[in-house]
Amino acid sequence: MHIICLDLEGVLVPEVWINVAERTGIEALRATTRDVPDYDELMRQRLSILAEHDLRLPDIQKVIASMGPLDGARAFLDRLRERAQVVILSDTFYEFARPLMQQLGWPTLFCHRLEVDDRGRVVGYRLRMPDQKREAVQAFRRLNFTVLAAGDSYNDTTMLAAADAGILFRAPDNVIREFPDFPAVQEYDELSNQLDRAWARLSKTDGS
Ligand SMILES: [Mg+2]
Repeated sequence: MHIICLDLEGVLVPEVWINVAERTGIEALRATTRDVPDYDELMRQRLSILAEHDLRLPDIQKVIASMGPLDGARAFLDRLRERAQVVILSDTFYEFARPLMQQLGWPTLFCHRLEVDDRGRVVGYRLRMPDQKREAVQAFRRLNFTVLAAGDSYNDTTMLAAADAGILFRAPDNVIREFPDFPAVQEYDELSNQLDRAWARLSKTDGS
């Protein structure tokens, strides 16, 4: 049996913070884990910018609701889920992801939670645990699943390394250069092919 673990932002949906930055005109919100690999540092930066501009959860949710998944993402995910268990491992927050999960047909999502006060101000965040993507992959493997993983960014690389096969999808050049051992693809049909090839290779060795 195998499980496919996918990153969310940049793989199935647009980068949430970049879209919020574009629609609010707050350039500083454009930074992602592509730019600042230390996630805690990045989040503290984002929360202080939100407070500075008095941007509250309902404002952000409105933007996210209008974003929609990336072109072709829903069809790709539906085809994948016919053939394998798919779990989305993301460093986003349930409060942000909900409207996008609806548009993706409610796939399984493991992510984090925001702390929001009674006036809708985002005052903090709670990570499920440090490096939950890698921890989840390792836990699935302990349950005797073969794990294939795909992601686009620095915060995916420990997940890709922990998986039986890891693939970079639409990763920026610096990530592709820094992690040359992972195949790197740009389109959903290429990603499907890479997953099929990895699965065929792994099935030969584990007999499943
Ligand atoms: Mg991503």
